[in-house]
Amino acid sequence: MSTVLILVDSVGGKVSKATAELATFGKKIGDVVAVICSSDAAALLPQLANLSIDRTLSCTGVDFEKHSTGATASALAAVIAKESPSAVLIASTARGKEIAGRLAVKCESGVITDAIDLDADLIATQSVFGGSTTVHSTVTHGTPIITIRGNAIEATSGSATPAHEDFAVTYDGLDKAKVLSLAPAVKGGRPELTEASIVVSGGKGTDGNFAPVEAFADSLGAAVGASRAATDAGWYPHSHQVGQTGKTVSPQLYVAAGISGAIQHRAGMQTSKTIVAINKDPEAPIFDVADFGVVGDLFAVLPQASDGVIAKKG
Ligand SMILES: Cc1cc2nc3c(=O)[nH]c(=O)nc-3n(C[C@H](O)[C@H](O)[C@H](O)COP(=O)(O)OP(=O)(O)OC[C@H]3O[C@@H](n4cnc5c(N)ncnc54)[C@H](O)[C@@H]3O)c2cc1C
Repeated sequence: MSTVLILVDSVGGKVSKATAELATFGKKIGDVVAVICSSDAAALLPQLANLSIDRTLSCTGVDFEKHSTGATASALAAVIAKESPSAVLIASTARGKEIAGRLAVKCESGVITDAIDLDADLIATQSVFGGSTTVHSTVTHGTPIITIRGNAIEATSGSATPAHEDFAVTYDGLDKAKVLSLAPAVKGGRPELTEASIVVSGGKGTDGNFAPVEAFADSLGAAVGASRAATDAGWYPHSHQVGQTGKTVSPQLYVAAGISGAIQHRAGMQTSKTIVAINKDPEAPIFDVADFGVVGDLFAVLPQASDGVIAKKG
């Protein structure tokens, strides 16, 4: 049975949803070894129970928080030498992609970033050029290093008590950049946009009133997104912008309310599993990518939808 390494991704001491998704992809290929490169290992370990993980391995001896991504890449290279895995899977965050790049250089391996699917033969699927082209690719040299976008798969559960080992690593500390301080961003009650399995976005059609968008998002436990027209108008923070120059999301459900569906917006959301569009204009291009469409005024549709969801929950 082949082994697949996944790099445990965490934010502020919490294992992210992306880790469970990496494990699920890993399980398609072989036994999953979750590698922890964090000074928070003791807090992260219990959170890895019940995921599709066969073994956990904590890299010890290095203060990972103090160093840049170089320390993690160096530790992963040592784990690759020990385990000879079939592949290494890493979350497609900015940090994850930097680690993947450094690791690929260290191991002289090929790297694939932003995969939205991966099959048992290690053929990765990417959606490129604003979602207009689907690419299937595979690594032909070294240990394949693949970063996978969040929400690309529904995470499955697994062993309650994966076996654990500590693995001592060293780091020469030759960082060209140093982390001076690290503080997790202060978050509201809603899930992070790129982590959420449901995203409700509002556009220019909200006319600056995001209350019904937020209320519907809250009824579903969803994150709130926005089009660039809405963020440029100052109606919603730029950190919530979805699209070519904003964030790429790929949730199980994406709801676009009062968004026309410009190519630049679609580039950031069209790999969502199910897309629902609410728009007054039946000719709006968003309906071309929508699985379900409601032609209507968002100020009438969204409150009814929220009431419906709340009533269903009892
Ligand atoms: C280089 C570049 C990068 C870009 N990057 C991005 C990006 O990252 N993300 C992004 O979103 N855009 C981006 N854009 C902008 C993009 O081209 C569009 O201008 C933008 O997406 C439009 O936002 P919108 O759909 O909210 O507004 P509009 O296109 O004005 O559409 C508003 C929609 O709301 C509907 N509507 C109005 N009132 C209601 C109502 N009461 N109920 C229901 N529907 C209603 C209208 O019928 C219309 O379809 C970029 C553009 C460029 C040139």
